Amino acid sequence: MAGTPGTGEDHEDEDSCMQCGLCCRVFGNGISPTPENIYSWIVDGRTEILRHFRACRADGTWIRCTELDAPGTGSITAVEMRDPETGEYPTVCPFLRRVGKTRYTCSIHADKPDMCRNYMPWVFGETYFPRCRALEKKGEVSPWSRIP
Ligand code: SF4
Ligand code: SF4
Repeated sequence: MAGTPGTGEDHEDEDSCMQCGLCCRVFGNGISPTPENIYSWIVDGRTEILRHFRACRADGTWIRCTELDAPGTGSITAVEMRDPETGEYPTVCPFLRRVGKTRYTCSIHADKPDMCRNYMPWVFGETYFPRCRALEKKGEVSPWSRIP
């Protein structure tokens, strides 16, 4: 996901995403990268991404992802987005960028977490997001969304 300004660019439904940024603004602070995402960012030296996440290891201790090494990702049991300065949960995804009046993009689009890469709010099922602008445009409103 969450998000997904720009995620649409990765899908067959490539032109579906209108980059309104709503899914990222609603869900983006809750994204959880996979250990494989963390591994790749470590190998590629992406400290500017890693600094926004903390990982829980098998022994239950939490560590800043900037302090992990690549082999250490094998013992990760959970990853959470945290403010790098305060350690608090952020209110918005720090990678979301406004690039127009109503247009947003992901500043780490090429390297974003799998959760964002695979997010397809216009597909009925687990990731369905009825407020998605692409859905509105296509007129694919769920019958359940009209039930008060
Ligand atoms: S990482 Fe990118 S795609 Fe994912 S929630 Fe943040 S801005 Fe959206
Ligand atoms: S809510 Fe829909 S149209 Fe808006 S950014 Fe997300 S996927 Fe794209």
